[in-house]
Amino acid sequence: MGNKLLSVYEALLARYGEPRWWPAKTPYEVIVGAILTQNTAWSNVEKAIANLGSDLAPEVLAGMDAEKLAELIRPAGFFNQKARYLKEVTAWFAKYGYDVSIVRERSLGKLRAELLATKGVGQETADSILLYAFGFPTFVVDAYTHRLCARYPIEAGKSYAATKAYFEEHLPKNAETYNNYHALIVINAKEHCRKKPVCTACPLGDICGRRDV
Ligand code: SF4
Repeated sequence: MGNKLLSVYEALLARYGEPRWWPAKTPYEVIVGAILTQNTAWSNVEKAIANLGSDLAPEVLAGMDAEKLAELIRPAGFFNQKARYLKEVTAWFAKYGYDVSIVRERSLGKLRAELLATKGVGQETADSILLYAFGFPTFVVDAYTHRLCARYPIEAGKSYAATKAYFEEHLPKNAETYNNYHALIVINAKEHCRKKPVCTACPLGDICGRRDV
């Protein structure tokens, strides 16, 4: 089973190279992006981030009027709700003095529990923040992961927790592999494994059981 996941990884890496995600300049920008990307396309997140400009710093967002923040992030949709969530997750970061190195000294389990207790942060958002902002080895599962598993198929279970556990059990436990793997699944889902799959020239075409079905 482990070989199946590694075969997928090797084929995706060979095609796309190392994605080196997340597309952000700072860890805090990753945190903000992880909230803003909920239920919207990344292009809308980029517009909201561009609107924030030099205000995209935790000290600034913490003190910013919620209505002004909502207006700036309007392109990302659900802007009133997301402004509240940004305030909440920024307050969580404040507990560590907005210091990435202090967060990194804490245990993954404790931080994950804290993030999950933060309004607006579900499992995918928590794991995205922990992996992509802070470099913790925690696998991010999303709808594209479930789609690939269903089609290939990879018997990783249906729930977020089961799929995450399966990937973590069958892959080398390090942030770099988890980082690349999640990013590669997303890239291939956009290029080939779309709602309506484009199996022709898919890098998994030779090994995927669902090809051309
Ligand atoms: S071969 Fe088709 S179904 Fe399989 S991963 Fe590629 S696009 Fe998806």
